[in-house]
Amino acid sequence: MTDPACIFCKILEGDIPAVKVLESPDCLAFMDIGPLAEGHVLLIPASHVETIDKMSAAGAAAMLGLLPRLVGAVQAATGCAGVNVLQNNGPAAHQEVMHVHFHIIPRNPGDAFHFNWPAGKYPNGRIEELAEAIRQELD
Ligand code: AMP
Ligand code: ZN
Repeated sequence: MTDPACIFCKILEGDIPAVKVLESPDCLAFMDIGPLAEGHVLLIPASHVETIDKMSAAGAAAMLGLLPRLVGAVQAATGCAGVNVLQNNGPAAHQEVMHVHFHIIPRNPGDAFHFNWPAGKYPNGRIEELAEAIRQELD
């Protein structure tokens, strides 16, 4: 299933060009045209799904199954020191293209990509309370 209004579906349909690096029946990986670093790759499912929580387990497994090889190839090709695998899920999390995608972003010491990591602390009992709420939602 594709969405004619979706830019990544247009890439899947061949309606707009992309520089592809890996194709499978379930997924496509291609070069990000606005790279945060040289070699920045996007991995997308071949069906239109907006956010990862809406994916089937099988669809997510197919996509994640490609990550080790893809990350290894990006690292080997760029010689980067590390990689961030980033999945922006929802507009509040900086998702601009509403078709699930994983960013594979090459990283090197002192590079230009920064993100704020404001690690907090839980008040007494809150961590257990939240874990229980999440467990309930998993059922
Ligand atoms: P996000 O903010 O997580 O939704 O990221 C969307 C990403 O898609 C950005 O990094 C864009 O540079 C990239 N992007 C948008 N349009 C295209 C396109 N036509 N080909 C390749 N990458 C694209
Ligand atoms: Zn789409």
